[in-house]
Amino acid sequence: IQSKLPKVGTTIFTVMSALATEKNAVNLGQGFPDFACDPLLVDAVDQAMREGLNQYPPMAGVLPLREAVAAKIEALHGKRYSAQDEITITAGATQAILTAILAIVRPGDEVIVLEPCYDSYIPNIELAGGTVVRVPLVPGTFRPDFDKIAAAMTPRTRAILVNSPHNPSATIWSAADMQRLEDLLAPTDVFLISDEVYEHMVYDGRAHESAARFPGLAARAFVVSSFGKTYHVTGWKVGVVAAPAALTAEFRKVHQFNVFTVNTPVQHGLARYMAEPGRYLALPAFYQAKRDLFREGLQAKTRFKLLPSEGSFFQCVDISAVSELPEAEFCQWLTTEIGVAAIPLSAFYADSFDQRVVRFCYAKEDATLRTALDRLAKL
Ligand code: PMP
Ligand code: GLN
Repeated sequence: IQSKLPKVGTTIFTVMSALATEKNAVNLGQGFPDFACDPLLVDAVDQAMREGLNQYPPMAGVLPLREAVAAKIEALHGKRYSAQDEITITAGATQAILTAILAIVRPGDEVIVLEPCYDSYIPNIELAGGTVVRVPLVPGTFRPDFDKIAAAMTPRTRAILVNSPHNPSATIWSAADMQRLEDLLAPTDVFLISDEVYEHMVYDGRAHESAARFPGLAARAFVVSSFGKTYHVTGWKVGVVAAPAALTAEFRKVHQFNVFTVNTPVQHGLARYMAEPGRYLALPAFYQAKRDLFREGLQAKTRFKLLPSEGSFFQCVDISAVSELPEAEFCQWLTTEIGVAAIPLSAFYADSFDQRVVRFCYAKEDATLRTALDRLAKL
């Protein structure tokens, strides 16, 4: 058939996880934790189910969860969103991003993405009939190049997608970066989709600079996050989008006919669990210890050249000193022969090209990371 997405195959995360399972490899590819979530969170969902909270929730999500999110954003970023009119619960960040794009992008509109980027963004824009305008992050450092972004903007630019902490590069945007984005967008009516799913995974004392903190950005932004990432429950597929009322109204027009709403007891369970802020405030230290364990092991045992990991739960490495294989083939080989799965950076570019860089996910039990390091030591 004539495909709407002729260049799209199966997402790399599915491909590499299937290969990891088949080869019995340690899966440091797809980004998900291999440890259990807090049993208290499971109890909270269980309790909600037993209370009979099992029918359709309101279209925008259950109010207690929307209120909990609004309170959290206000406490962390000083911006008050209306739980009623400006917060919507989604089936993961993936659906939030697609729905935001479908809600605002009209055929022929240009949408700027900064490459490398998460693999759903570009097909999402194409599905909406938009024109993808790809702007590279600075090669090597993966920092935003604001001159290039400015040069890519035209009167047809409808939106820009940004992601910090960044998947796959593990860089984070500083307050100065966000300020420059705010200044750049100020004279325009360009919308911002700010993918902040790794908002609680920032290390070495850095802060997460949410678009919600910058009034000129918040006024035009869909701020997207994921409960799956924050609470170690990626399989629950629950996310959230915060956006000004006018944007939220457009978002919900699409959302209601896309998924309509998201499962009820999980939302109530999350709302009750989130009431204790210590549960997300503990995350940076928790993940930083894993990052340090993994980085120290890689440094001591392998010849990979490590890139910084300032945030997210990813570690990118340059493979040049270890292998001459193109990075995509290297990942296949590493999974099959060494028993460790990784993701090639080329998967995050529309025109995949070899950079000699692969991405590992360190959201794993320390024992899993040690097993992977022992295997990688054989390289
Ligand atoms: N954006 C980024 C940058 C991601 O890494 C991910 C998931 N790994 C998502 C969005 C999707 O999140 P969810 O699982 O909540 O759909
Ligand atoms: N976002 C996760 C990653 O980058 C995977 C999510 C998915 O499998 N779609 O690994």
